[in-house]
This record gives sequence, structure tokens and C-alpha cells, in this order.
Amino acid sequence: MKRAKCPRCGAADTIAELDLIPGLAGIGGFNEDAEPEFVGYTEVLWNDQIAQRDEHGNIIYVCTSCDQQLRFAEIVLLDDQVVEKA
Ligand SMILES: [Zn+2]
Repeated sequence: MKRAKCPRCGAADTIAELDLIPGLAGIGGFNEDAEPEFVGYTEVLWNDQIAQRDEHGNIIYVCTSCDQQLRFAEIVLLDDQVVEKA
């Protein structure tokens, strides 16, 4: 495994995959406008977690340090264990 570094802010080990995780939001019933009244819990469907992709099919990554979206080709892969601090 090669560690990753953000090309925008230079931080290492801050790259995350942008995923969508569906959930089942519990409802107690519906109001007069036919909208659900939530009861305050959501069952997260972890097995249906899926990576988000751009219009070209590339997985979207996000740097959790600078919040910039990245594509794999932009991410700097580190060959050794020495990581510069941003
Ligand atoms: Zn960054």
C-alpha cells in the first residue's frame, strides 16, 4: 500500500473516498401535507455504501484537510514511509 498526499494542500493521510450510504429514517406517521413525521432514528445500511463517481466514472476523493475534491490521477502517492507535514 502506498500512502497518499493531497496535491492541493500538501497534507498526507487525509484523502477519503466520497461515499453515499443509504439509511432508513424511521417515521411515526404523516402530517396533513402528506409529509413524514420523523421519530429520530435512522438505520444506516452499511452494506449498500457506494463510492460516488464523476461524469466520467472516476471515483471522487476528498481531502479532509482542505475539503477539495480530487480524482485518483491528481493524488500524490508516497513511495516511502517518510511523510512531510504540511
Ligand atoms: Zn488537501
